[in-house]
Amino acid sequence: MIVVLKQNAPAAKVEELIGNLQNRGLKTNYSQGEHTTIIGLIGDTSQVNPDDLQALDIVETVKRVSEPYKLANRKFHADDTVVQVGDGAFGGGHFSVIAGPCSVETEEQVTEAARRVKAAGASFLRGGAFKPRTSPYAFRGLKAEGIELLLEAKKETGLPIVSELTSLENIDLFADVDIIQVGARNMQNFDMLAELGRCNKPILLKRGLSATLQELLMSAEYILSGGNSQVILCERGIRTFETATRNTLDLSAIPMLKQMTHLPVIVDPSHATGISSLVEPLAKAAVAAGADGLIIEVHPHPEKALCDGAQSLTPDQFDHVMDSVKKLCELEGKQL
Ligand code: PEP
Ligand code: MN
Repeated sequence: MIVVLKQNAPAAKVEELIGNLQNRGLKTNYSQGEHTTIIGLIGDTSQVNPDDLQALDIVETVKRVSEPYKLANRKFHADDTVVQVGDGAFGGGHFSVIAGPCSVETEEQVTEAARRVKAAGASFLRGGAFKPRTSPYAFRGLKAEGIELLLEAKKETGLPIVSELTSLENIDLFADVDIIQVGARNMQNFDMLAELGRCNKPILLKRGLSATLQELLMSAEYILSGGNSQVILCERGIRTFETATRNTLDLSAIPMLKQMTHLPVIVDPSHATGISSLVEPLAKAAVAAGADGLIIEVHPHPEKALCDGAQSLTPDQFDHVMDSVKKLCELEGKQL
């Protein structure tokens, strides 16, 4: 981090600042030029808030030269992190697909979805029991009963399950859930992230609707810094001026994140578009852009779905998507 001082900064105040920074364990490099005087900070500057320095009357500007995320940073961890659960793995050349209904509705619905997505080659069953909905009048999930139905489908098919936690209040119900999903709307629920850092389950962290990649990585940092290294990132579309699709899939986020971080990156083409016919082309694009997996909504009868029917694939449509994805994975040298 570089602190540029104002021209007329009094020496005593500059010394005081340097002393404070050194007391925080940082090395300082003072350099007085003809026109500009700067203090270079060396060490772990992740605990320094640039705005606090900027607020001092002797400071002109503050520039970060390294990223504030350390544990998620590819620079300090060159090898890909591989998150493995059962037979499915994400990252380091491994590609897995999570599929199932948006929300768990009935035993028949979820077990039928589980059977079909497994047969098509998915490694995980998804299903929401706690649903964050824009409207309080919409179906908000079967809650505890939904988790029970997922566990039954897991028992019947052997597929590990992925479900969204919307409040820490319910965390005990997730004891047998294999991957805990943090939804887009909770990406910056920092208390929840910190708590999930203390649990030893993989976390699927979805990008917030208007979150930058750095903000996504800072959220991952909350989980990693608690001691949980099993974080999977998910690009699920961001909000833009375009209204033809539900969101805009940020395809460049995939290779960009792969450069910024060692964590696996998966793509959700269902929420990204909101339109079932767009799921296959974007799933293919995600593989080509370097994704480590996909999460796709599949419902035995999308027209009857209580949530997100328009973007849900029928099991037959999902078979078709998986055929394409398998071919592309082979081409990309990914192990599905
Ligand atoms: C979901 O996966 O069902 C979901 C609600 O996704 P998102 O948080 O990305 O909107
Ligand atoms: Mn959904």
